[in-house]
Amino acid sequence: MCEFCAKHGQGNRWYLNPDNFSEKMMGDSQRVKTLEKVAGWGIDYYIDFTSRVTQLVNWPVIGKAVKAAINRMAPNEHGGQVVSLEDSLQLLEYARDFVLLPCACRKLVGHRDDMVCLNFGPIKDMQRRFMPEGPMEEITLEEAREMVLRSDERGHFHQVLYAKVPFPICICNCDARYCTSLKQRWANNVEAAIFKGHEVCAVDGELCRFCEDPVCLTRCSFGALHYDPGAGRVHVHAADCFGCGLCRTACPRGALSLAARDGVPAAAGMW
Ligand code: SF4
Ligand code: SF4
Repeated sequence: MCEFCAKHGQGNRWYLNPDNFSEKMMGDSQRVKTLEKVAGWGIDYYIDFTSRVTQLVNWPVIGKAVKAAINRMAPNEHGGQVVSLEDSLQLLEYARDFVLLPCACRKLVGHRDDMVCLNFGPIKDMQRRFMPEGPMEEITLEEAREMVLRSDERGHFHQVLYAKVPFPICICNCDARYCTSLKQRWANNVEAAIFKGHEVCAVDGELCRFCEDPVCLTRCSFGALHYDPGAGRVHVHAADCFGCGLCRTACPRGALSLAARDGVPAAAGMW
C-alpha cells in the first residue's frame, strides 16, 4: 500500500475511493489554485513548469536540496501514479464530466496536437472559464472507456493524475517517448513526478517460450523486461517495473500477470 492509500484509501487504493472524487475536495484553496494554474495556463503551464524544474534540480551545489524539496512538495501540487487497465476502467466509474484535451507532453516533445489527455471532474468547467477558445472535446463515460482500451492496445500506459493528492482529475495515456514526468524521474531523479503503480509483473516460466516477436519487450516503456538466455524466457527486473501491465495484455500465451507490489520483496515499498 502506498502512503496515499494509507492516508486516503479507506482500505482501497486512493484513486478507487469514491469519496476522493467528491466536489467537497474543491473546498481546499491550495487545490483550487493548482487547478486554476493547470486550466488557466494549459499547455504553457506544463512546458514552463517542466523547464523550471529541470533548471532548478540542475543548479550546482543546491540542486540536490531543490530536488528533495520538489519531491516532498509534489503531492501538494500536481503529479501522477501508474495504474493498470483494470484500475483505470474502474476509476472512470467514479468520475464524471469527461473531456479530451491536447497532451502537453506530446506537444512539448513531439510538436503534436493529439487529443489524448482524458480529464474529468472540475476540468471541463475550469477550461471553459480560463481557456474558452482552447480545444476541448466532451465525451461520454462509454467513450472514455473505449479510449482507455484503445490506448492500451496501442501500447500506451495509463497514469492517474491528481491535483493535490487525493483528488484524481485525469487519466493520461502515454509512452516513454513523450512522457515528460518519466523524463523528470529518470533524468533528474524527481521521483514524485510519476509514482510506480501498486503491482509488479510476474512471469510464468512454464508458459513463456520466448516468442519470435517478443511483443512484451517492445511494450514495456520502463525497460523492466529482459530476455534470459539461460532460462530461454523473459525475466522481469521487479525493481524497474512500474506495474502498467502492458506486457501482460499483449502476451499471446498468457505468461504474464500482475502481482501486488507489497508481496514482491525486490519491489516492495518502491514507489
Ligand atoms: S510475449 Fe509472452 S510468451 Fe512471448 S516472450 Fe513475452 S512473455 Fe514470453
Ligand atoms: S514489465 Fe510489464 S508491467 Fe512492468 S513496467 Fe514493463 S510493461 Fe509494465
